[in-house]
Amino acid sequence: MPKGIWVVAEQRNGEIKKVVLELLSEARKIADQLSEELAVVLMGNNITGQAATIGEYGADKVYVVDNQDLADYTTDGYTNVLSALAQKYQPTAILLGGTLSGSDLATQVAQRLKTGLMSDCVGIELADDQLVFTRPVYAGKALVKAACPEARPVMATVRQNTFTIDKASKEAQVITEEIAVTPIRQVIKEVIKEETTRPELTEANIVVIGGRGIKEGENFKLLEELADVLGAAVGATRAAVDAGWIDHSLQVGQTGKTISPTLCIVCGVSGAIQHLAGMSSSKWIVAVNKDAEANIFKVADYGITGDLFEVVPALVAELKK
Ligand code: FAD
Repeated sequence: MPKGIWVVAEQRNGEIKKVVLELLSEARKIADQLSEELAVVLMGNNITGQAATIGEYGADKVYVVDNQDLADYTTDGYTNVLSALAQKYQPTAILLGGTLSGSDLATQVAQRLKTGLMSDCVGIELADDQLVFTRPVYAGKALVKAACPEARPVMATVRQNTFTIDKASKEAQVITEEIAVTPIRQVIKEVIKEETTRPELTEANIVVIGGRGIKEGENFKLLEELADVLGAAVGATRAAVDAGWIDHSLQVGQTGKTISPTLCIVCGVSGAIQHLAGMSSSKWIVAVNKDAEANIFKVADYGITGDLFEVVPALVAELKK
């Protein structure tokens, strides 16, 4: 009898990603409605100490696989472990954060288990005891609700900042599992850390985005100043990236990163569909554009029609007060 809603606890250097806590808070409600347990799978090296804190976010159980071969994320190592655990315990559902490694792992495990995967979800609900997932389609122009009725376990990746975090103060039962991690075909030769004091783009609560309207790379300093006053991350459109003004890793959109911050301030961005695909699920969008007809104003909650070179310094000055 398959049982249990599972959340995969993605961590980096022992620090659990925020999206995991968001997923746990939502999964707790679903597990309660289904009268099933909520379990977390925690994989890594020297991470057992993190297991207890996961209970604070509602988990009943934590399956821990602590192994030096899991120190860095590898597709094979993590797939071997998660697939074997799922085969052993047969959960109802496995939920992962829609991060780069979460998405990578989900596709591999779904393939190994020959089951269904809903990717890039922005909502989960129960209908007739079945999990129904909401997903953006057509580059974010529409939302569909879909289910995998035959899939066991049903798997899903969920966008970051989709759910709010609730503390539950439970004591989770910690179960240490000895699972074969190898064979691993990928070799991590070097991990290069990004040197920035700003939050990671896909995890940031506030993001400031610059587009072609910024006119040259040097002018991104203006947006960085705004970002630093707000504790925000900086992102860019493909036009700004292609012009060589900012690193490609900061591109937001269909061929860049997907973000769902609480607040997204977009400056000098027209609002092309490929860009909106990566940021239109932000909770609040504030757009600054000198063209009152710009498409970005159709998705913005607040719009400022004006020259960003006047508006942004004024915003910074006001926020500094
Ligand atoms: P523009 O469309 O040129 O808009 C610039 C805006 O700045 C204008 O609205 C203008 O009014 C405003 N502006 C100018 N000066 C000022 C000023 N002083 N003050 C205020 N406003 C000003 N794009 C992405 O962003 N991400 C993607 O992932 C992506 N993937 C793509 C994939 C494919 C297959 C294709 C075909 C395209 C993709 N694009 C992507 C490109 C996308 O179609 C647009 O070309 C791009 O998003 C436009 O960027 P922009 O808004 O910065 O530039």
